[in-house]
Amino acid sequence: MASVCLLVGVSIAAAQSPVTMGGVTAPPGTVVSGTLTVAARPGDDGTAIPFSIINGTRPGPVLALVAGTHGVEYPPILALQRLRTAIDPKTLAGTVLMVHVANMPSFLKRTIYYGPTDGKNLNRVFPGKKDGTLSERIAEVITREIIDRATHVIDIHCGDGNEWLRPYSYWVVTSAPAVVEASRQMALAFGLDHIVIDTERPTSPGESVYLANTAETRGKSGVTVESGGWGQTDEASIARIERGVAGVLRQLKMRAEGPDPVTAPVWLGPNEVLRTKFTGLVYPVVEPGQTVAKGALVARVTDFHGKLLQEIRSPYAGEVLYVVATPPITEGEPVGYVAERVSGPEWRPKK
Ligand SMILES: [Zn+2]
Repeated sequence: MASVCLLVGVSIAAAQSPVTMGGVTAPPGTVVSGTLTVAARPGDDGTAIPFSIINGTRPGPVLALVAGTHGVEYPPILALQRLRTAIDPKTLAGTVLMVHVANMPSFLKRTIYYGPTDGKNLNRVFPGKKDGTLSERIAEVITREIIDRATHVIDIHCGDGNEWLRPYSYWVVTSAPAVVEASRQMALAFGLDHIVIDTERPTSPGESVYLANTAETRGKSGVTVESGGWGQTDEASIARIERGVAGVLRQLKMRAEGPDPVTAPVWLGPNEVLRTKFTGLVYPVVEPGQTVAKGALVARVTDFHGKLLQEIRSPYAGEVLYVVATPPITEGEPVGYVAERVSGPEWRPKK
């Protein structure tokens, strides 16, 4: 009898629990989808956030995968459509929570950067506000329902509809040391070969601003990844995300199999989003992935009659990570992003 009791005890200890969210429950070993509601308030109709729960058969981490924070960033959204069926809950430890389209108003109205209702950038309003504008309320629901449930978060981006980009990830180093180290492991496991060491994210959970930073300021590991852009739906950008998620699932021991981590990535330290002082047309003169000298011309901005207004030059000898590659440009907006190579992950800016 003693051995039977022991076996029962072991099986209870190792059992995965059902996961309930948004009014649906995923028992262990199942995939269940549902919709989180962002309620209407005066001024807008609210919105819906489609999600899936892939619940494993053994306990383990809760990995949140968020796509569509910016609605014209398609490879992340398409990669999650595939991963929903590719991740087998029967062989999974822990749980994968997927947000298929975080910013539904932006997706359906095809707006870059900003939500169509309130003109706010969803990835600048975290952790959100219950009584705020639509973007702020989307952020609040994602913080409460997804990030608060997760142990690890991947915010999956690409260049927005106007941005031509080479793949890279952001590794935030301003959170607690254990979170920083676990996040570094996630960035390596995701496998993108260029990693920006981000030293400037806010440290307060109440002012986390960015989605992944909302996880990190709450003691969870996270990474923001970029693959694809320019409104494209290319196979290479989608496949890179699928591979990256598979790498993180292996690294977190949620699955036995998976691709190897990147072993010798390019670490990028000093970095700057280059912005224009003018409204008009932008003409990039470099390509993403290109190496530029300090002072090299990155883009020209002209007025609507073609007169040159500004030449934008690189402040670093470094690499171009993205350029704005469609003509419209408004004062203060990005025209490109340049970062400087550093020796390794230990790099920090001089005080
Ligand atoms: Zn984005």
